[in-house]
Amino acid sequence: MKLILLGAPGAGKGTQAEIISETYKIPTISTGNIIRAALKEGTEMGLKAKAYTEKGELVPDEIVIGIIKERLSEPDCNGGFILDGFPRTIPQAEALDNMGIAVDAALSIEVEDSEIVKRMSGRRVCEKCGASYHTEYKKPQKDGICNACGGNLVIRKDDEPETVLNRLSVYHEQTEPLKDYYNKQNKLLIVEGQDDVKDTTALVLKAISEI
Ligand code: ADP
Ligand code: ZN
Repeated sequence: MKLILLGAPGAGKGTQAEIISETYKIPTISTGNIIRAALKEGTEMGLKAKAYTEKGELVPDEIVIGIIKERLSEPDCNGGFILDGFPRTIPQAEALDNMGIAVDAALSIEVEDSEIVKRMSGRRVCEKCGASYHTEYKKPQKDGICNACGGNLVIRKDDEPETVLNRLSVYHEQTEPLKDYYNKQNKLLIVEGQDDVKDTTALVLKAISEI
């Protein structure tokens, strides 16, 4: 299965991607995670991306397209994959088509802006492995500590309130048109994000099982 996850920042794409990955035994490719890893390592790509991500703006298409091309050519992607956070613009979607990669579906997780803002303010990520948590909705077993690796949980710089509003408007302007793009290809699936992660997961798995 080749699946794209669409949705506003904070709609829960990453969380659902993890579950789909485990269920279908296919890797999740998150451009956000790849970029953050590059930032942390201080690679050339990381340095180029830094200013954009910190302001909540999109990293230029050619950079993320390069990241995806490289990643999708790795052998673990042969049996399918989930794209979390790519494509985010029409040119990125066109690049994927031009690579000859036909996805089975683009699943959009829909959540109101007001709810997104509420969720993002409680979001915490592990500074070591990138796993994500929430102060209300997805608490770690131990306060401030990652269940998976024991790392410290921190607030992502781009989760600051002002940056969140900027990311939302970028989403509406540049990413939301992708729903139309995939709808025209008859590949769009819509799931309403629920308050409880498990309820969203049930809807997501049902939608995917019907592909
Ligand atoms: P979100 O929580 O918004 O889904 P991500 O972790 O997917 O965030 O991405 C974090 C940041 O990385 C984005 O705000 C953007 O700056 C950059 N980024 C990630 N994926 C892309 C992409 N496909 N195109 C451009 N920029 C991207
Ligand atoms: Zn961790």
